[in-house]
Amino acid sequence: MDSDQLEKYRGQLELLRTEIQADLDASKEASEVVELDTSIGRLSRMDAMQNQQMALELRRRQEQQLQRIANALKRMDKETYGLCGKCKQPISKDRLEVSPDVVMCVRCA
Ligand SMILES: [Zn+2]
Repeated sequence: MDSDQLEKYRGQLELLRTEIQADLDASKEASEVVELDTSIGRLSRMDAMQNQQMALELRRRQEQQLQRIANALKRMDKETYGLCGKCKQPISKDRLEVSPDVVMCVRCA
């Protein structure tokens, strides 16, 4: 991969990382433990807990994505970026274009 391309993907990854981090910061409150407030009814409490579960699930996925981004940036430094983690063949440009943090090629994924 040429360095122009690499820098382009690096830029995308860093932007993505910033966005996800901002999202995580913003959703921190939503995923905090629901107080068992007796002033709200049982149903709204269940609602609140369900919303919290969804917020936690989203955060978990975002944290995993942050990890994938960090790994992709590390691979850039090691000059293995864009190569499939399994078969070591180059990952198609189209695939990297859509998700620059992808680890495996279409065939291996
Ligand atoms: Zn592969």
